[in-house]
Amino acid sequence: MSPEVIFSISYILLCACIIYPPSEFISAGFTVEAIFSKYLGSEQESFTTYHIKKSCLNLFVYSLLPLAYVVSLCVVGYIEEITILFTGFSLYWKLFATTSLAIPFFSLYQIKKWCENNYEQHPIAINLKKFCNNNTSWKSVANDVDIEFRRFDKVCIHTSAVVTVIATENWILKVMPLTVFVIYQSDASLVVKEAKTYEISNHSSDGIQYLNIEIKSSRQNVNPFIIRINARDFKDLRDRVARSIEILPNVKFHKSVIEQFVDVFKETIKSNPIYDIGHQDLDMCLGCSQVRPNVKIQKLCEDTGVNNCTSCYCRPMWCSDCMAKWFASRQDADQQNKWLSSKCTCPMCRAIFCMLDVCRLGNIDDE
Ligand SMILES: [Zn+2]
Ligand SMILES: [Zn+2]
Ligand SMILES: [Zn+2]
Repeated sequence: MSPEVIFSISYILLCACIIYPPSEFISAGFTVEAIFSKYLGSEQESFTTYHIKKSCLNLFVYSLLPLAYVVSLCVVGYIEEITILFTGFSLYWKLFATTSLAIPFFSLYQIKKWCENNYEQHPIAINLKKFCNNNTSWKSVANDVDIEFRRFDKVCIHTSAVVTVIATENWILKVMPLTVFVIYQSDASLVVKEAKTYEISNHSSDGIQYLNIEIKSSRQNVNPFIIRINARDFKDLRDRVARSIEILPNVKFHKSVIEQFVDVFKETIKSNPIYDIGHQDLDMCLGCSQVRPNVKIQKLCEDTGVNNCTSCYCRPMWCSDCMAKWFASRQDADQQNKWLSSKCTCPMCRAIFCMLDVCRLGNIDDE
């Protein structure tokens, strides 16, 4: 390979790292945002202004990349004289060299248009303007977004090196290098359209699952957008968004081994006798504090001679989900096929129990 080709390939890689910085670049502070952080100001203080400035900067930096390539060819010495750039070589090369010179001017012209009249024509301002009430300016919407972004209760999900999804109390924002998509939560609808699982290794059934969620607004002219998030972040988003998230029937959420076991556990204990606790008031489940306890351990199985189950006198303190997770956590991770026939100890008194000894409570409504 000629040195010119190697140089060109390295340059293309460098461009890719500037546009789509890998985590090493981000942690080393070698990104457009980090280098120009003084000019950009604080995202926390004024979110909208920060992203307007950032988009202008990104556009300008991207537009310089082809020209920087041509110039660096001269600097390194692969092209001897700057004048033959535009006269010599093939037609394609002349075309490329001329375009590379023109693109930064176009981008400067675009940025100038964006900045006119207080950013009135900037894509972010245009997106915000759609949420204005009569006669108010996009600035007042921007101000509301800024205020909510400053709070600690927002959810930020970095879905890739250049895309971040932010859910504040009232807004859902998708931040991209050149714009920010905005939707007001109270007129938004969220639909999980697709779930894709990627296996990390052959012997674990725990793959990474990504969800494609379409976010639409019932307001006119507001463009819908799609966010792609890791299924692990889904709960955070769901908890922050005031709207319910619809999941299309064909979307199958990938379940972890533990989640699958919880389902089997709950199904299995359905065939055990019911334990009637009368009308006692029960505190919340000790495991999750979300629901009332709904299972009681009592020895019902027959002795087998070794490792017999023992009596537990504890009050019901756990829900079936938490009991199933506790059960799973005490098992050998490599012997999943033996879990159901294994034993466990009561989380409170350490009495030994098996699946036959877990009884659902009598007067509790089934989920
Ligand atoms: Zn629980
Ligand atoms: Zn016990
Ligand atoms: Zn037992």
